[in-house]
Amino acid sequence: MPPSILDAVPFSFELYPPRTDAGTANLHETIRHLAAAGPRFISVTYGAGGSTGGRSLELVRHIRETTDVEALAHLTCVGTTYEGATRLIREFLDAGITSFLALRGDPPEGVSEDDHFLGDLESAAQLVQLIQRAQIERAPYTEYSIPGVPGAARVDRRRKVEIAVAAFPNGHPRSRHATEDIDALLAKQAAGATFAITQLFFHADDYLGFVERARAAGVGIPILPGIMPIVSPVRLRRVLELTGEQLPTDLAAALDAAATPEAQRIVGLEHASALARDVVAGGAPGVHLYAFNHHDTVLAVLREAGILTETTEMEPTR
Ligand code: FAD
Repeated sequence: MPPSILDAVPFSFELYPPRTDAGTANLHETIRHLAAAGPRFISVTYGAGGSTGGRSLELVRHIRETTDVEALAHLTCVGTTYEGATRLIREFLDAGITSFLALRGDPPEGVSEDDHFLGDLESAAQLVQLIQRAQIERAPYTEYSIPGVPGAARVDRRRKVEIAVAAFPNGHPRSRHATEDIDALLAKQAAGATFAITQLFFHADDYLGFVERARAAGVGIPILPGIMPIVSPVRLRRVLELTGEQLPTDLAAALDAAATPEAQRIVGLEHASALARDVVAGGAPGVHLYAFNHHDTVLAVLREAGILTETTEMEPTR
């Protein structure tokens, strides 16, 4: 087959830290498969679903140590002081992490938005600034020893951090008006964010229209579309609860009409792959897939979309 323009589309995945040892072993297997597909980066959530920072750090370390793929660490403002947040950022920098997704974070379970759940940092924009400050405080150079030449060192300029932020094509559930989300994104760009990753959405026009409005308002950073394959009615209900997105009636009806779990999976795969193709055709700089800690579905979406082909895929290595 001749190479297609889709072969060169960058893609990335999101994972979350597992709660159990069995989950960890399965996730390590998933990471091997995802890494073999050649993603631009793999991101790891922080604090979502009750996970702790320690488990996020462990997982980004695992990705760094066992694959060639860039690990991108999510960090949030929840319940932390300036000192605590700075200490945490330094721990990730010390582990060699240079890509972050700076988030405000959601209140922990059982805590309302109106309660004081954040700490010293009140917005993602402030966290972007703190990550930059922590990076600047470090020596601008990294020393590498030269094998066989005791006492000698190679000195390289330290890589600058990449700081991603969240964007909401259909509005953050707490936004009071349509332009508030673009104002928030402009504030995060002004603070130093280098790119944005969107919340999931169900129609290509949601993303493409948002990017157009953001560009018109002065947002210049790349906006990567976040795509979640919805492979069952149960998953659809759960993500609507978590994100506050509107029910996509077309997808919901197709999932309900599918008679078996396998038929539902195919509906979800086709929906997500069509979404990926359409946003890329509309100018998206790549696709970011919410993997739910499984490789088979997201890799199938990329194959179905024509982004991953036999020529671009490699065998996972041990
Ligand atoms: P902010 O950008 O700080 O915005 C929060 C609210 O304040 C919004 O309503 C915004 O419109 C408003 N706002 C902020 N600044 C301004 C301004 N200058 N002007 C006007 N309004 C403003 N949560 C986790 O806990 N862990 C995770 O790992 C995680 N990963 C995520 C990954 C992605 C890709 C996305 C999209 C979300 C993720 N979340 C995660 C959820 C996120 O933390 C919540 O959606 C949170 O409520 C908002 O975070 P934010 O970074 O967008 O906040």
